[in-house]
Amino acid sequence: MQNELRQIISELIPLRRRLHEIPELGYQEFETTVLIAEYLQENGLKLQPFKNLKTGGYCDVGRGDIVAFRSDIDALPIEEDINHPIRSQKAGVMHACGHDFHIAFGLAVLRYFKIHENHLKNGLRVIFQPAEESVPGGAVDVLKEDIWQDVKVVLAAHVLSDFAPGKIVLSDKTANASSTTIELTFYGPGGHTSRPDETVDLINVVAAFISQASNYVHSHVDPRDSFVFVFGEIKGGSAHNVIPREVSLRGTIRTFDNSVNKRIVSLLQQYCIDYSNTYGIQIKLDFPSMCPAVINDSNLMNIYRNFIAVNDSAGDFLVVDKPAMGADDFSYYLEKAPGLYFRIGAGASGNGHSGSFLADENLLLPGCKGLIEFIEYLNR
Ligand SMILES: [Zn+2]
Ligand SMILES: [Zn+2]
Repeated sequence: MQNELRQIISELIPLRRRLHEIPELGYQEFETTVLIAEYLQENGLKLQPFKNLKTGGYCDVGRGDIVAFRSDIDALPIEEDINHPIRSQKAGVMHACGHDFHIAFGLAVLRYFKIHENHLKNGLRVIFQPAEESVPGGAVDVLKEDIWQDVKVVLAAHVLSDFAPGKIVLSDKTANASSTTIELTFYGPGGHTSRPDETVDLINVVAAFISQASNYVHSHVDPRDSFVFVFGEIKGGSAHNVIPREVSLRGTIRTFDNSVNKRIVSLLQQYCIDYSNTYGIQIKLDFPSMCPAVINDSNLMNIYRNFIAVNDSAGDFLVVDKPAMGADDFSYYLEKAPGLYFRIGAGASGNGHSGSFLADENLLLPGCKGLIEFIEYLNR
């Protein structure tokens, strides 16, 4: 397999580099979709378009019950600030999360199983998903597509800076945190800063809310449950001597357990009711997006452990117990079928989501080999 796969990867490398040069933001991955479709067509495969999305698509090999593999295809609104031969040609847009590699994973897997369709007892479907970085995320749109009937397992792979290129890492239970966006708007009567006693000093009240709400949440959640409750944006006021009528906050809740997320959401709802009564103000609370945690299925984890035990390169596979605090909308697919979320070591310099992110291309061969072997194992 190694030599054949080496050949497939060497043919794919120029395409992966081209994808890095032409990054496209979520829902605008038109050129990317054309490149994917062309590669598939050259190899006797067909990219099926989505009905409700203009970019991305899916491609099938084999038939029967389906193992689906998600490749996300969008880039980020980040300026690539390193100089290398395949630097992004688009100002302010960059594949800073490695999705150019994720496309290559999907294509390599399809190409391999097109040649070896006889290794598949079941069907294989690669979903090229737009807009993973958007909120609520392209997965929510893909979920509405009529492509899920026979899907029995869902897989995805994401490059991971911290590990050597091609190292395959799975989290024992939770792979990625849930991410809930909080939007809060506080409304008060407003007034002159010379007379705070005649109105509600809204900025002061909101400042107190930030720390008190956080204390309240922290003291009402089981201390053994990890979570993040942080505000990232505050807006209010337009003059030094005017007490504003409106102040807004935006923040995030992240948890490793969807029930903990639910608990924090209801705590915050109750706290806002009590707080608005105490201060005689109005508070509008919204959660515009709630991306669940990515939780690896325990049965599939057992299968994965058995797979490692019989694999010649067992040392390339790792199971870790620490999840990542980042989120991935792959979690929505897990509502359709049990799944696993692979991380592929990228030996990267620079962090993901930064302009200096640079993954080591050598991750492709071992990364794709591991994925293909596991899919073969599922089809044994
Ligand atoms: Zn990302
Ligand atoms: Zn990503």
